[in-house]
Amino acid sequence: MALSDEIKKKVQENLNKKLQEKGRTLSCSVCGNNNFILADGFTNDLLQDHFGGLVIGGPAIPEVVVVCSHCGHILKFSAGVLGLLPEKKEENPEEEKKDTTDNVEKNDKE
Ligand SMILES: [Zn+2]
Repeated sequence: MALSDEIKKKVQENLNKKLQEKGRTLSCSVCGNNNFILADGFTNDLLQDHFGGLVIGGPAIPEVVVVCSHCGHILKFSAGVLGLLPEKKEENPEEEKKDTTDNVEKNDKE
């Protein structure tokens, strides 16, 4: 399992675009380094409405993982907010399935 060069390029472009929109660059919040390594795969944070016991196959936030090359601090970004997920087809328009990353995006807008 590895990300293709094409996917890696798109991740970097989309993340850079988001940062540029806010006039920011990526720097490590722990050590201040500004050199990062893109992990060679995506991850998912599982969402649950209770503590304890792991529910596999439930809702999750798909994420891009970026690692500080100096101290190893890990940053995770929502793949949905970065525009990396395939377009969802509305099969049941009446059933409103909200992705949690949609809410994060709305809250971030000014
Ligand atoms: Zn660091």
